[in-house]
Amino acid sequence: MDPVLSLKKVGFRYDGFWAIRDLDLDVKPGELLAVLGPNGSGKSTLLKVVDGILTPQEGEVLLKDRPVSGYTRSDVAKEVAMVAQETHFYFSFSALEVVLMGRFPRLGRFQFEGARDMEAASRALQATQCLDLAERSIHELSGGEKQRVLIARALAQEPTVILLDEPTSFLDLRFKKEIFDLISSLTHERGLSVVVVSHDIDLASQYCDRMVMLKDGRVYSTGVPEEVITASNIKAVYECPVIIDKNPAAGSPRVSLV
Ligand code: ADP
Ligand code: MG
Repeated sequence: MDPVLSLKKVGFRYDGFWAIRDLDLDVKPGELLAVLGPNGSGKSTLLKVVDGILTPQEGEVLLKDRPVSGYTRSDVAKEVAMVAQETHFYFSFSALEVVLMGRFPRLGRFQFEGARDMEAASRALQATQCLDLAERSIHELSGGEKQRVLIARALAQEPTVILLDEPTSFLDLRFKKEIFDLISSLTHERGLSVVVVSHDIDLASQYCDRMVMLKDGRVYSTGVPEEVITASNIKAVYECPVIIDKNPAAGSPRVSLV
């Protein structure tokens, strides 16, 4: 199957400093891909390059076989939705209003949301089990609820690729599982492609089809979780000695600090 998203030797530098370099990556339809790596290894920069927020100085990003550089902002947004690391709202929007913001790239100039947008928003709220939150203020929601609403906003965009930047960072165990269950159903049941940046290595191994581990802005290891989550890779990349065994329930690699 042709990849929906391809990075070819992509490099991005802030001022004089290369945050990612020489990066090759393919994402296939229906695939759940994890991006791992320590702080500062270039994970967020990678997502921003894919989303077209940052334009790489080297290489190119292909979206459905066409260079992203040739897309308009709203055309990128019809294919790619980003759930950013920290999203603040200055106004006390309702969850429904936040989700409707996802429709913005699909509206014409000076056009208000119509029936089709409302339908897309309510489908997205339903898929993320947020229907009963629709009228609540985004400021009142718990971390897990807010994260689900932000994923609903991404879904309302009706993209083919969703990018999530550390969606489970501040969540308790149950909500972490809920978010991974949700993104796994989006890929494996609905055929969306999801790229998720995460520090929850065990959970990512349990849910993701493939992983990419970054070190200093370059791909250090890539493959199925068993290939990427090895003691030697983690020692080299996170500078931390670990023991890897298997999650007794899922059989996926499990990391224990030594
Ligand atoms: P990660 O998400 O893996 O923690 P980032 O992609 O945010 O890493 O950052 C990669 C590197 O680029 C880091 O060294 C960071 O300090 C640097 N960086 C990130 N954003 C900027 C910026 N706006 N200006 C300059 N340097 C930046
Ligand atoms: Mg980051």
